[in-house]
Amino acid sequence: MSKTKKKDLLYENKNRFGEIGKNDKKSIKVYCEDYKKFLDNAKTEREFATEAQKYLEECGFRPLDSAESLSAGDKVYAVNRGKGIVAAVIGREDITEGASIVGAHIDSPRLDLKPNPLYEDNHFAYFKTHYYGGIKKYQWLTMPLAIHGVATLEDGTQINISVGEEDDDPTFLITDLLPHFAKDQMQKKLSEAVPGESLNVILGNTECEDCDDDIKEKVKYNILSLLNDKYDICEEDFVSSEIEVVPAYKARDLGFDRSMIAAYGQDDRICAYGALRAVTEIKKPKYTAVCLLVDKEEIGSVGNTGMRSRNFENTMAKIVSKTVDNYSDLKLRDTISNSICLSADVCAAFDPSFPEVSEKRNAPVINGGIGLMKYSGSGGKSGASDASAELMASIRKIFNDADVKWQAGELGKIDAGGGGTIAGFVANLDIGVVDVGAPLLSMHSPYEVSGKLDTYMLFKGYKAFFER
Ligand code: MN
Ligand code: MN
Repeated sequence: MSKTKKKDLLYENKNRFGEIGKNDKKSIKVYCEDYKKFLDNAKTEREFATEAQKYLEECGFRPLDSAESLSAGDKVYAVNRGKGIVAAVIGREDITEGASIVGAHIDSPRLDLKPNPLYEDNHFAYFKTHYYGGIKKYQWLTMPLAIHGVATLEDGTQINISVGEEDDDPTFLITDLLPHFAKDQMQKKLSEAVPGESLNVILGNTECEDCDDDIKEKVKYNILSLLNDKYDICEEDFVSSEIEVVPAYKARDLGFDRSMIAAYGQDDRICAYGALRAVTEIKKPKYTAVCLLVDKEEIGSVGNTGMRSRNFENTMAKIVSKTVDNYSDLKLRDTISNSICLSADVCAAFDPSFPEVSEKRNAPVINGGIGLMKYSGSGGKSGASDASAELMASIRKIFNDADVKWQAGELGKIDAGGGGTIAGFVANLDIGVVDVGAPLLSMHSPYEVSGKLDTYMLFKGYKAFFER
């Protein structure tokens, strides 16, 4: 027997704060402060892409299209329609040997405004919303909401909208029934108690003062006038807008010991931020390092900004063509199929208040390190991209060699439910891929919980992977 010590024989998922050295402790603290600040400035996929672009520029990355040719150590990025980013550091090896990709998504569950959102009812003005992604609708009532997004005018002018975040901004909310009259509501199933069409955001209650008599809905008109004053938009401009209603909370430390973070949108910006930070700290890697940030994961990775789009292949084609002599389609194909990818997405942490959905031996725990998930899916691994034993071994070695804390698990108890990530769509490109992300509590809620150790270990782990 080669492994004689007890600690080498045994392995289990557990809180690993006690195993952390002094340096890591300090780094965790500093990193998590940066992360919280970034989260507060990036509550939508567009805001994340904008902030990421800014950060990449600060770190010496330049637009891919501006580069004539690329060689080892060159740093480039390409933005996909304002909602996704590919950032790369060219490696020393021939790029056709494959890249190291860390892919995360930057969209989060929220409420989108409908195409015709503004209406008046009983002297109130409201926005009608259509929820985006998997939410428990009741969680979005009676909480402070902010409104973020863009309206694009006919001439292409982009108007940025963000209101509800500053202390002197007004807030917005969706009302709920008082308990005194909620007898019928309380008898309903949780999934039916709050219908999607009742997620209407309250905007105002006063009429316009000097408007014409023939204007029937004076409260609605008043809101339109205010929006026109501030943003120079009219009602038809909503048609060409993407406006999202998100929690107005800021990211905060959680607990007396400040060992966790509570924040909106940690699925999956916790991994996206880790991937972004990691790629900016790589100098001249052996293999080309690629940070891939995509949109639309929460609704099936659809659309031209989602992982199912050809955008990633097209961007890689540009990178490869600028890197190799005599570009050919085969060289692009080789680059892609020789690549390996960490699908950087969050997993469900064991929640002691809801133990019934987890199988304790295979549930990642908060502050137990990065969750290494061989597969996700539901009901007999259906829909899972089952990572190979060989890939699991190489990732495990990379993490162990770099003293990255990690744990292995699966997505809940068998037949308790399930879910997926971008992993399957990356695998379809003929890339070896495994899910590697932080465990969260209250995932998809307006205020998700992460562990600070895990948050930092994502960065450390992705960096070690880029440096493989
Ligand atoms: Mn996710
Ligand atoms: Mn999700």
